[in-house]
Amino acid sequence: MADIIITENARKVILKDAEQTYPHECCGFFYGTDEDTRTVLEAIPVENTKEENRERRFEISAKDYLKAEQYADEKGLTLLGVYHSHPEHPAIPSEHDLRQALPYFSYIIVSVKKAKTVNVLSWKLNDQGRFAEEKVINQNNPFDVDVFLSSYQ
Ligand SMILES: [Zn+2]
Repeated sequence: MADIIITENARKVILKDAEQTYPHECCGFFYGTDEDTRTVLEAIPVENTKEENRERRFEISAKDYLKAEQYADEKGLTLLGVYHSHPEHPAIPSEHDLRQALPYFSYIIVSVKKAKTVNVLSWKLNDQGRFAEEKVINQNNPFDVDVFLSSYQ
């Protein structure tokens, strides 16, 4: 199982979005570095453009995907994936999530019950086109990319 490190800074953004958007699904992008282990340094919410059934579905516009790619380029970060929430459901990808999934991306899913986070899991497509779980490691150090990167050199 590959590891994915989520810094406290990014985790706070994702969980706040998931809890505030409840009972609808939230969604957003996350950015960071892709070395042997992926490290999520920053997360940014985007609009769920699904017209109906936002309790069970999310959709991100093509324009927002493009903006996310541009943002990553500007910041010198890698666009690592998409997060979204599952209100009143486990943090396990649905068949719909599988159909929408892109290779390479990590998919962080937050399970939210009664507007409180209960679980955070991360998933990535494997060579067989199925979701494989990534081991989420929560990094508690304050966000400081220079200190963080130098400690790994
Ligand atoms: Zn989902």
